[in-house]
Amino acid sequence: MTSVKVRVPAKVNVQLSVGPLRDDGYHDLVNVFHAVSIFDEVIAEEADTVTVRVEGEAVDQVPLDDDNLAVRAARLLAGRAGVTRGVSLRIRKTIPVAGGMAGGSADAAAALVACNQLWGVHLPPADLMELGAEIGSDVPFALLGGTAVGTGRGEQLRPVEVGGAFQWVFALADGGLSTARVYAECDRLRQATGAKVGWPEVNERLLAALRTGDPKALGPELANDLQPAAIMLRSRLVRTLDAGRERGALGAIVSGSGPTCAFLVESKEQATDLAVFLRGSGVARSVVTAEGPVAGAVIV
Ligand code: ATP
Repeated sequence: MTSVKVRVPAKVNVQLSVGPLRDDGYHDLVNVFHAVSIFDEVIAEEADTVTVRVEGEAVDQVPLDDDNLAVRAARLLAGRAGVTRGVSLRIRKTIPVAGGMAGGSADAAAALVACNQLWGVHLPPADLMELGAEIGSDVPFALLGGTAVGTGRGEQLRPVEVGGAFQWVFALADGGLSTARVYAECDRLRQATGAKVGWPEVNERLLAALRTGDPKALGPELANDLQPAAIMLRSRLVRTLDAGRERGALGAIVSGSGPTCAFLVESKEQATDLAVFLRGSGVARSVVTAEGPVAGAVIV
């Protein structure tokens, strides 16, 4: 085996509930992840050292050293499995960078799967998930795909049954938002307003809507506790969300820590209609349609 190609999806959080700030600086989360058909590809080839190249979306914002999450994943797997060979990683990015769709985590997941195969390590999926959680709390979901409830920091996953395909439109923004900054802004806003923050719980109506595959029932249940903070840091997101709602989206939310906006629609035709409308109204840098749920990182 001299080359392995892995395809890995982006995610949108259909529910993101953020608990109070913990003493260790993290928050307890209830995070319903949903994998959508916007994919990065990671190609791993035999080499003596670990290197990475990046092509596509916002490549100038992606680190090419050991800070690259795919490189970290490869090094972690090599260290754990006693592999002394290197790997040449090539990332083809389509997932927006720092867009709230977990692109970096997706690349880490893809690198784990690719190197596991290239080096003949053959760790079982459960072990890859554990390694993934050491890199970041979104990495295990990128391995799993589908739709899943994440608790803890988001890394403890329970798959969720979904009764059909949901159609989405994503409005990509100019420039990213730092996840750490958005969480800090969320804490600041809560402190400033004295908002009482309860223990996060999964929304059973949302799970029921997912189970029946009913977009009309799912739309009003979409919720993201980070949205007010993302909007404070990027006020023009309000215009983007409003534009989608006015054109008939069943639900409109900021994806994760933003600034990508996610719109749920009823059909593929409506996705195309909304995408054309959003492109024409100048409220986004670019607009893409996608479907979910899709599988996690797979060798192609
Ligand atoms: P999340 O939704 O998990 O909060 P995000 O989608 O907002 O994350 P990412 O695209 O994962 O953000 O990137 C966050 C930062 O991680 C980037 O600004 C970049 O500097 C760094 N990074 C490291 N490795 C990668 C990678 N392979 N792809 C993209 N960004 C990476």
